[in-house]
Amino acid sequence: MSASWNYVFKFIITGDAAVGKSSILIRLTDQRFLANPDPTLGVEFGSKLIEIPEEGKVIKLQCWDTAGTESFRSITRSYYRGAAGCLLVYDVTSRRSFTNARTWLADVREHADPHLSCILVGNKTDLCDEPAPAGRPREVPTEEAELWAKEEGLLFVEASAKSGQNVELAFEQAARDILDKIRRGV
Ligand code: GDP
Repeated sequence: MSASWNYVFKFIITGDAAVGKSSILIRLTDQRFLANPDPTLGVEFGSKLIEIPEEGKVIKLQCWDTAGTESFRSITRSYYRGAAGCLLVYDVTSRRSFTNARTWLADVREHADPHLSCILVGNKTDLCDEPAPAGRPREVPTEEAELWAKEEGLLFVEASAKSGQNVELAFEQAARDILDKIRRGV
């Protein structure tokens, strides 16, 4: 029996608690959004096939949602092993989550494969479009995050797990980058 995909890529989703890691995974695999999901406990897993049409390739994404809290650090570290891609998530309405992305990146760099393709994802953009009280002001300007991503050699996208905007695109961009590295023999 032949497989219906060309590659399997392991992805990890990391970042502070409550930035929307589980919601991004649920949106990717289930096309749903939960306003009150269960708090992330340990690690959640999701799988999804995506197509990169210009490459004529189908990729099976195996995504691990790592817990955002310090107490789970020792569990999540082992999940970096073998990962080809990483979503480093912050909340565009939380400056603190963006500042902490530096620590998460350092953690990824310490434990993951040095060739890992990493995309910085500014989540919850929908909140900035809503008026108060439902909405929340943006605390991280797009240009600032874009600049930092560039300095660090990260891909970058802003997204919303709630509306679904750019969620699949984030994974696709990282997958394209991984394919490119495979082609170049990196
Ligand atoms: P995690 O701890 O990083 O996995 O975060 P969760 O996925 O559990 O999300 C934390 C909270 O933020 C939940 O109440 C979600 O419903 C909410 N949330 C997640 N993503 C979004 C988003 O894109 N927009 C909005 N408005 N809320 C979101």
